[in-house]
Amino acid sequence: MKRRDFLTKSAATVITAGVLESCANTKATTKVDNVSNVYMQDFTQKPLAFAYNALEPYIDATTMELHYSKHAAAYAKNMNDALKEENIIETNLTNILSNISKYRTKMRNNAGGHFNHENFWHWITPGGNKMSQAIIDKLTTTFGSIDAFKKEFSDAGLKQFGSGWAWLIVNNNKQLQIVSTPNQDNPLMDTAAIKGLPVLGLDVWEHAYYLKYQNKRTDYINSWWSVVNWNRVGELLSKIG
Ligand code: MN
Repeated sequence: MKRRDFLTKSAATVITAGVLESCANTKATTKVDNVSNVYMQDFTQKPLAFAYNALEPYIDATTMELHYSKHAAAYAKNMNDALKEENIIETNLTNILSNISKYRTKMRNNAGGHFNHENFWHWITPGGNKMSQAIIDKLTTTFGSIDAFKKEFSDAGLKQFGSGWAWLIVNNNKQLQIVSTPNQDNPLMDTAAIKGLPVLGLDVWEHAYYLKYQNKRTDYINSWWSVVNWNRVGELLSKIG
């Protein structure tokens, strides 16, 4: 190849790559508004779909009662206080989350906490239920096997230092991905290192497990798999996956 041809071709390659990258970025923009209706996102706490003791022996009744009626209730109250304090007229909680960097810390902690818990109650159900074949196929394609998926997800929860959440998300490239977030952050927030739409979330705050499992977060996570509501995961995947 002559030097001139080489230079021309190289330049063309660079330009093509640039255009492709630009297109990919454009496509990758997730419009959270379009999927906001798939999440639980009322501004008030909804009743639990099951009794406090219904997840035993995996999650004990006292933990569930305190978790729902004290911890989660406080996030709901404090979020509504923050809405008043910041004079926010916004009817869409996911819009707040996707612009959370514009709000004060109180909003970040409590809007995140409220959203995370309202959705968490739907990711667990008495006795759990089975993965559909569609979920099995998607997880196997992405992670190699169901066991490999569970290990990676469990590790994300286990290795989250201090309080936080593990998530299975559909990322901005429409791929399934496992991430974790600190405190009450979540992958919908514009502050998240890796953004995406959650299809499964696991609360690894000590208040979610300490009464029964003490410092053994691993045992809590292992038990938690027994109450996962895969029907809900399938519902979310079919809408946003
Ligand atoms: Mn919690």
